Amino acid sequence: MTITYEYEGALYVNLTNKCNCNCEFCLRHGKAEGSIYTEDSLWLKREPTRQEALDSFLGRDVCSYREIVFCGYGEPTYRLDDLLWLVDELKARFGDKLPPVRINTNGHANLINGRNVCPELKGRINVLSISLNATNAADYVALCHPVQGEAAYQAMLDFARDAAPFVDKVVLTIVDKDKTPEEIDLCYQIAAELGVELRVRSFIDS
Ligand code: SF4
Repeated sequence: MTITYEYEGALYVNLTNKCNCNCEFCLRHGKAEGSIYTEDSLWLKREPTRQEALDSFLGRDVCSYREIVFCGYGEPTYRLDDLLWLVDELKARFGDKLPPVRINTNGHANLINGRNVCPELKGRINVLSISLNATNAADYVALCHPVQGEAAYQAMLDFARDAAPFVDKVVLTIVDKDKTPEEIDLCYQIAAELGVELRVRSFIDS
């Protein structure tokens, strides 16, 4: 079972395969040949306990990485409580030497956990990387198929805005594939209105 793994100098963490979306481009579909995300080992037969995840961290030289990234083969905020517990445990051990902590997320943490989790991120999470994916709710549903339907789009935007005061940086991301220049411009506008950054990334990326 792969809980933590290295990628381009960062330490990635895989806590869950659960997701409330089923994105057309999801690397879980295994379409991206050669990607680390198509490794079978990232499919968890069972979710690791938080102690197992901590042990996986502590078996490594944690402070040698440029960044710690919670992502996985699913939506990491399904395990937000465990994720934050892990960060607290690591901070207790390594203090300021702990590398910056990022969550790669679909932005549905509040929907998934049934509460506003944003204040809980303060002092724990440095960067939130949120998949924007579309410029409107209808396109978002067509692409990501969230179980919550169109409401999930606005929930993601609200999360980006509401989390911003509690973390160092919020970055909305889009994949350049199948996006027109006009749509990319609109994504920049959406990010600016929320007071966050936009990153345009290629199809296979971190
Ligand atoms: S939100 Fe992420 S993990 Fe979930 S289906 Fe979309 S790409 Fe896959």
